[in-house]
Amino acid sequence: MRTAAAYAVSAPNGSFEKVTIERRDLGPRDVLIDIKYAGICHSDIHTARNEWGATNYPCVPGHEIAGVVAAVGSTVSRHQVGDRVGVGCMVNSCGVCVACLADEEQYCTAGATMTYNTAVDAAAQPGGHTLGGYSTQVVVTEDFVVRIPDGIGLDIAAPLLCAGVTLYSPLRHWGAGPGKKVAIIGMGGLGHVGVKIAAALGAEVTVLSHSLSKQDDGKLFGASSYYATSDQQTFRELRSRFDLILNTVSANLPLDDYLRLLNLDGTLVILGLPENPLSVRPFTLAGYRRALAGSMIGSIAQTQEMLDFCAEHGIGAEIELISADEIDGAYDRVVASDVRYRFVIDVATM
Ligand code: NAP
Ligand code: ZN
Repeated sequence: MRTAAAYAVSAPNGSFEKVTIERRDLGPRDVLIDIKYAGICHSDIHTARNEWGATNYPCVPGHEIAGVVAAVGSTVSRHQVGDRVGVGCMVNSCGVCVACLADEEQYCTAGATMTYNTAVDAAAQPGGHTLGGYSTQVVVTEDFVVRIPDGIGLDIAAPLLCAGVTLYSPLRHWGAGPGKKVAIIGMGGLGHVGVKIAAALGAEVTVLSHSLSKQDDGKLFGASSYYATSDQQTFRELRSRFDLILNTVSANLPLDDYLRLLNLDGTLVILGLPENPLSVRPFTLAGYRRALAGSMIGSIAQTQEMLDFCAEHGIGAEIELISADEIDGAYDRVVASDVRYRFVIDVATM
C-alpha cells in the first residue's frame, strides 16, 4: 500500500478536511497517476451532501482528474511514465456484459465501478469504497485511463473528463450537427462545455438560462441565441423550435414547458440529476411525437474521442482555479449558480 493526501468529508453536513488515504499497490495492469488538477462537478456535491441517499463516508469525491503517469504495472502497454492522462467517472466495469462488449461500459449491467463512492473489496481500495480525485495520487487499471492531447492544458482538460463527455455523448448519439437546432438548459459546468462542443459540431445552439446575466459568455462559447427562462415570453417564442434539448439543470424544472419547445420527433435528454422525481403530462409527449430520454456520461472510447475533438477545436473548460482549502466555499457557490464555469482544485496545494 502507498499513502496519498486527500480532502474528505465525513458527514452530509461536514466540511472538507485534509486526510491521509491509502492506495493499492500497483497490479500488473495498473497505472499510478500523480494528480495535478481535479474539477468540482455538481455530482460531487450531491454525493458529499448525501443528496442521493447512498453516500459512503468518509467520502473523497472527484471524477474530473488530470495528471501525469508516475509508474506503471508490469504488463501495461497503453501508458508510459510521464504521459499526460485523465480519469473520469469510472475506474472499472465487468468487461463481459452486453454493454461492456459494445464499448458502452458506463451502462455495464453489473454496474460500473465509479471513481468514488462505489463499494469494492479492500484490495482494490483500502476502506472498501472507491475514493476520488481530490487527492494527490490514484491507482487505476490502464483501460480506464485516457490520454490528454498535448494541445490542451491539464487544468482546463480536467472538467472535460466528466462535463465534456456527458455533453459530447448525447450530442453525438442524437446527431447534433449542421442543420440541427440544439438547446442547452443551464449554462453551468456541464452546459458551458456543451455549448462549445455543440457549436464545434456545427449545430445551431441556443442557451436557456435562468437570466441573461451570462449571455455575452454564451455567445462567445458559440451560442447563436440566448434566452432567459424566467421570462414566460421565451416559452411562447421558442415553441416547437428544437430538434434536441439537453437539460443540465441540477434542480427540478417544469418539464412540460421545455418539452413543448421540441419540434416533431424532437428529443429532450435529461442529464441533470436532482434527487426528486420529475413529472410529465403524457399529452405533451404524445402531441408532437416527442421523446424524453436520459444519458449517463459516455464510454472510455468516447471520452478519448471527445478529448481529441476538443484538442482539434481548441476547446477547454472555463475554470476558476482554487486551492484545496477552498472546496467548501466553492460548493456553496456552485449551488448558488455562481460559477464561471468550473472550479478546479490545484492539487499542488494539498
Ligand atoms: P452546475 O455547474 O451547478 O450547473 C447547473 C446549472 O443549472 C446552473 O449553472 C444553472 O444554470 C442551472 N440551475 C441551477 N439551479 C437551477 C434552478 N433551481 N432552476 C433553474 N436552473 C438552475 O452543475 P453541473 O456540474 O453542470 O451539473 C449539473 C447536473 O448534472 C447535476 O445534477 C449533476 O449531478 C448532473 N450530472 C449528470 C451527469 C450524467 O452523466 N448524466 C454527469 C455529470 C453531472 P443557469 O444559471 O444558466 O440557469
Ligand atoms: Zn461529474
